[in-house]
Amino acid sequence: MKILVLNAGSSSLKFQLFVLPDLTVIATGLIEQIGAEYSSVHLVFSNAAGAEQSIQKRRPVAEHGQAIAIMSELLTESGTMTNVQELAGIGHRVVHGGESFHAPCLIVDGVIEAIEELIPLAPLHNPANLTGIRVALEHAPAVPQVAVFDTAFHQSIPEHGYLYALPYALYEHHKVRRYGFHGTSHGYVAQRAAEHLETPLAGLNIISLHLGNGASAAAIQGGQCIDTSMGLTPLEGLIMGTRSGDLDPAILFFLARETGMTVDELDEMLNKQSGLKGICGENDMRTITELAGRGDHQAGLALTMFCYRLKKYIGAYSAALGGVDCIVFTGGIGENSARVRMLSCQGLDRLGIRIDPRKNNGSPQGTILEIQSADSLVKVLVVQTDEELEIATQTLQVIQQL
Ligand code: ADP
Repeated sequence: MKILVLNAGSSSLKFQLFVLPDLTVIATGLIEQIGAEYSSVHLVFSNAAGAEQSIQKRRPVAEHGQAIAIMSELLTESGTMTNVQELAGIGHRVVHGGESFHAPCLIVDGVIEAIEELIPLAPLHNPANLTGIRVALEHAPAVPQVAVFDTAFHQSIPEHGYLYALPYALYEHHKVRRYGFHGTSHGYVAQRAAEHLETPLAGLNIISLHLGNGASAAAIQGGQCIDTSMGLTPLEGLIMGTRSGDLDPAILFFLARETGMTVDELDEMLNKQSGLKGICGENDMRTITELAGRGDHQAGLALTMFCYRLKKYIGAYSAALGGVDCIVFTGGIGENSARVRMLSCQGLDRLGIRIDPRKNNGSPQGTILEIQSADSLVKVLVVQTDEELEIATQTLQVIQQL
């Protein structure tokens, strides 16, 4: 039997097919630019002999229903799945679970409506995720489907951590509070770190740093998240590719008054034109590191600011946790940028954090690299994240209880 994981975005569909019992991945696909004149369709799969092969096409894909039909065609063409009866379950990534979902959830009557009610909190993501769920239910009505939420892992954050110091009525009436995102990744890498350290998660204080185009930090005590840097939306916290992260909210009133910028323009600026891109014009950390290495001042500044913000969060979460046992770097930047790891931990010796430059520049053995120096009190790990595998694992756990 197999588990299919679907991640439906506004104009894309990502999917992965896993085989039980070990959840071995046998196909990974991406359909992009859904709704455009031509969409790109890409599948990488393991053939019957176990060798990797790929299929690439350009063809019109009008909407998600057609994307799912094309996904089925591709899986059949590749020989990785012949019919939906092979599926033990389908796991869906859902961005916002609000306060309604603390754990993955079997999609039964009422769940779709509950996810719909959360659309105001995630107007771009939840509708796309819901489309994926609806279309998958039409195509495979007899297969159990599970929603796995980006926010669920952070629902353990206590009241004093998730509330903003705003009039309390805003929380009561509009649910304005910190939710946090990247929860599937933070939960997964924390578990992997505990396994690697051969210490139960229950006995560890972990700071997890998920650094991709979006970036967030999480403080994890005994496996429970107690704080995270993203807030009501993914805009708060660390500096990101194109998002500002933390700033003085009064900047918005100032800009509205001084420049006449509208709410939509401010939203676009903070989410799409800020962060690394706002400082140096580039949002890709590879390009920025290269430019900084060649002496480009703005790129160097963007890199320094990015790492300085990270360092402040490491300090803050060390305090929130009452001491940290392990820092985990993950995501495209966390996994690949030795420079970012070194700069963000530099000068933290008094917190017991010291990186060994040689280990930091080494290659991981498998999916984990340990980079602290011999005298560091805190373990510093680079852990490859795998959100799809975690969604497959959680989907399996839910359907095993049926
Ligand atoms: P997403 O959040 O879209 O899933 P990823 O986790 O793939 O993104 O991370 C993308 C980021 O990782 C980009 O900024 C990219 O430049 C960065 N990255 C990938 N490889 C490297 C590398 N070798 N060195 C520095 N940054 C890297």
